[in-house]
Amino acid sequence: TGRRPTSAALYEEALQHIVGGVNSPSRSFKAVGGGAPVFMKRAQGAYFWDVDGNRYIDYLAAYGPIIAGHAHPRIVEAIARAAESGTLYGTPTELEIEMARRLKEAIPSMDKVRFVNSGTEAVMTTIRVARAYTNRTKIIKFSGCYHGHSDLVLVAAGSGPSTLGIPDSAGIPISIAHEVITVPYNDLGGLRQALERWGDDVAAVLVEPIVGNFGMVMPKPGFLEGVCRMARDAGALVIYDEVITAFRFHYGGAQNFAAFPDHAAIEPDLTALGKIIGGGLPIGAYGGRKTIMEQVAPLGPAYQAGTMAGNPASISAGIACLDVLREPGVYDRMDALAARLTDGLEASAAKHGVPLTINRIRGAFSTHFCAHPVTNYAEAQDTDGEAFAAFFRAMLDRGVCLAPSKFEAWFLTVAHTDADIEETIEAADESFRLVAAGA
Ligand code: PMP
Repeated sequence: TGRRPTSAALYEEALQHIVGGVNSPSRSFKAVGGGAPVFMKRAQGAYFWDVDGNRYIDYLAAYGPIIAGHAHPRIVEAIARAAESGTLYGTPTELEIEMARRLKEAIPSMDKVRFVNSGTEAVMTTIRVARAYTNRTKIIKFSGCYHGHSDLVLVAAGSGPSTLGIPDSAGIPISIAHEVITVPYNDLGGLRQALERWGDDVAAVLVEPIVGNFGMVMPKPGFLEGVCRMARDAGALVIYDEVITAFRFHYGGAQNFAAFPDHAAIEPDLTALGKIIGGGLPIGAYGGRKTIMEQVAPLGPAYQAGTMAGNPASISAGIACLDVLREPGVYDRMDALAARLTDGLEASAAKHGVPLTINRIRGAFSTHFCAHPVTNYAEAQDTDGEAFAAFFRAMLDRGVCLAPSKFEAWFLTVAHTDADIEETIEAADESFRLVAAGA
């Protein structure tokens, strides 16, 4: 609390009123040794200022949406314009058509889309639609992938690939966990076993095409192609959760990113979106093949609705954000900055003898305190959480803000500069030295 007395005081006060002092558990410092999280007051471009006046270079990017940087003038203007015209109508607007058109152009597997308010809602609804379309109930998902906080996706692996899941949260009935099978990522053997056992009951295989939730993890060549082929052979749909990945690496989804293994061989039946497409305001969306999407009310029997869905402020911010991302060279610049930063981190960790594995995909990367590769959840868990916590706190004290979890990625934004990278590498060099010293 030395540098952050006001955050410490606000945390004490927050605990009196807000459960755990935070409105999402990922914001607490529980995974990095506890204590007060930093209360931020203002953000601009690549920077945060906390309530004590400390400045931070931000690599959290609000867990992904802030790819244009904080308070990007085009997004601010779009939100102001939307607010002046009324924030919520409860009627259709032309803006929604414009946004839907843009998403379809960028992600052609979606013939039809529907806007919702969060990634959680988007994934939850794709599952309902897949169940309605196939008349089946079970879903298969992959260990360590996060798909929001609806009941069906908060289910952990049972004791093997062909066993049913167990609730990953209190309050989830075992009957719901029994509708879910969780198998290891990057391992077609597990999926094959699950499909052999349960294939006739499986409505969908749900997958993050590039993992963003136990680090950034690429699918091995052939993995996604195998997932899609095996799902289809079993009569199940394929759902891509692109809540983190869409518009992250290029202007489009991971599913049509040319540098991506199997991208030409695969097309999901349904896709869930969120985060970046709202430009920092709440949003989610899902879409897919026309015949499947026609299950959704008012056309079909699968119900989904939303008072706030497609609201003009979120849609306007999203359109402005996509405009920023359409500018030439934007993704190459984030790629180059991230490459420089990870080169610096690797060199510094090696110099201090700190084992470090970095998984980088364009402008996003994860740092794993271990000497082995990280290709699945078990490997991501088997890393040094205490070393990460020490690094995280040392970086915070040197003005660099990361997510308080060893599993989360660092995100570059349009706003980061070469000078920010230099400053971050210097902070990291001192931080790795402290980690090596066991401080
Ligand atoms: N899917 C993925 C892949 C995510 O990363 C997240 C959020 N981290 C979600 C779904 C849930 O999105 P939201 O927090 O907007 O509900």
